[in-house]
Amino acid sequence: MKKRTDKQLAKCIAPILERWLKRLDLYNTWFVRLEIVCGASLPEADDADSTVLASIDFSDPYKRAEISLNRELAATMSDADLDHNLLHELVHVLMRPMVHAAWEHIPKADRKHFQRAHESVTDTFTNLLLWDSKGERNR
Ligand SMILES: [Zn+2]
Repeated sequence: MKKRTDKQLAKCIAPILERWLKRLDLYNTWFVRLEIVCGASLPEADDADSTVLASIDFSDPYKRAEISLNRELAATMSDADLDHNLLHELVHVLMRPMVHAAWEHIPKADRKHFQRAHESVTDTFTNLLLWDSKGERNR
């Protein structure tokens, strides 16, 4: 796939975000912003070999979520992969109130385990939503 410029990427992302924000009813509950950033500014992945595609910061009292998207990785991604990955981030927003409420009560030693489970559930919901919207199984 040809490398997209930031402008092309933003143009591709806008309708995807809009569609999922509506579908997940996040328009009425959260203020979600997306920024295209240099990959080096993102936090490092757990295993040093992989690169983080996106990270998300929350301001819980204000129900604000800011997604940072790795420019270098996103620029060569297909529309379908962008769709999948942006939905994944928005499912994190949907689940945030539960994660926020639970986090402080999880012993530090168990947080990695919790985070892995959280990612797995996020993936499951993402796949179910994609399946649902296309009327067919997505993987
Ligand atoms: Zn995730």
